[in-house]
Amino acid sequence: MSARILVVDDILANRRLMQAKLEAKYYTVLLAENGVQALQVAETEQPEIILLDVMMPGMDGYEVCRRLKGNPATSHIPIVMLTALSEASDRIRGLEAGADDFLTKPVDDFALMARIGALNRYNAVALELRKREASGVKSGALSEDENEALERGANILVVDTNPRTIREIRYPLEAAGHSVLTLEEAEGRSALMTDPLDIVLLALSDQAYDPLRLCAHFRTTGSTRSVSIIVMAHDRDREIVAKALDLGATDVISTPVIPEELIARVATQTRRARYVEILRQRVDKGLELSVVDQLTGLYNRRYMNNQMALWLRRSAQGGSPMSVVSADIDHFKAVNDMYGHEAGDRVLQEFANRIMVNVRPKDIVCRPGGEEFLVIMPETSGDLACTAAERIRRAIAAEPFEIDSASGKEIDITVSAGVATYTGDDDTAADMLKRADKALYVAKSAGRNQVKSVAA
Ligand SMILES: [Mg+2]
Repeated sequence: MSARILVVDDILANRRLMQAKLEAKYYTVLLAENGVQALQVAETEQPEIILLDVMMPGMDGYEVCRRLKGNPATSHIPIVMLTALSEASDRIRGLEAGADDFLTKPVDDFALMARIGALNRYNAVALELRKREASGVKSGALSEDENEALERGANILVVDTNPRTIREIRYPLEAAGHSVLTLEEAEGRSALMTDPLDIVLLALSDQAYDPLRLCAHFRTTGSTRSVSIIVMAHDRDREIVAKALDLGATDVISTPVIPEELIARVATQTRRARYVEILRQRVDKGLELSVVDQLTGLYNRRYMNNQMALWLRRSAQGGSPMSVVSADIDHFKAVNDMYGHEAGDRVLQEFANRIMVNVRPKDIVCRPGGEEFLVIMPETSGDLACTAAERIRRAIAAEPFEIDSASGKEIDITVSAGVATYTGDDDTAADMLKRADKALYVAKSAGRNQVKSVAA
């Protein structure tokens, strides 16, 4: 898969140069010359990777990075910061802003392609898992527990024959809350090791063993197959680093190791690996975590509740008030009784289609259950919501529903709907739903096939 890469740099010559390098490797390049443009392109084009210059007039790279990571629509896109600053603290600032990696300018081609290759492999796994999740959790939003799991200290195995290097990297890692084990300690305690390894730190330069053999071993052995391998190597040992990356090493760090960089890279790799693990578990759990109703493709009750809470919070924080439309198919039980459940399912599907083509993109259409539907209308006044509900009602009544494709049998379907609007600070999702249902009841009592709203 050839990735689309967004290159953000304020200097035209830099953009051109990077574009040429990437296109030579068959990547597709998108360009942005400032932070504002970068945010727009990232959201609309959804590139696979973003290369982000730090020093830009106006919004600098750190700020762009924070905003991209703060927006659910772009938070999953890996960001590589390009910094002309050689101070370790400046590079690490990028990782703290949420960047996934960084490169120092002038960008070294080898390092650039190594990082992009690693991110590409990671993306491929994450994308596949997100797709398989069937639930359309497009934002990649994580629960609090899951976020906590991403930040927990890592179990790290250090493979290096030089005891001095081990000491030098052990202290800062343990101070940062990680558990460190050498190969000898691991062998001695293998029976006691219950927590799976997160990371192998593998020294490539000046070693007595064959580091590439070890790299391949970790990659192919069951218990360490999904571990992140960070190789540590001297800048002169490029060739062996390239081979290690080919064998599945996930990241590279230059020796002598700078502790801050080591800690930042360990944190990034741990987060990435655990994110993939979380997605994997979600796929396993499957439908339980699904947010989509399988019959109609609309959002289910679980997602509805999440979104109600979210938009209520935004309304309370001073956004325009939200509204909800509770809709219920009239005499639906009779459809099932007279024509069977298959016909009933077809009605539900067609009903869902007609709602979907009659709402705005920002509206959230849910099927909490049975013949009940709920449309969450963010930033929508009660009047506007009533007009929208009326448009849906007409679309349902306008044409009969086909319930059998063989015979072409059609029946008339109508819908009743109740509208409720956020009333202020102490309003709750439960109260809003109650008011919408009350309005729906009024519409049913008044003869069905109509829209009602009730004052709070
Ligand atoms: Mg610049």
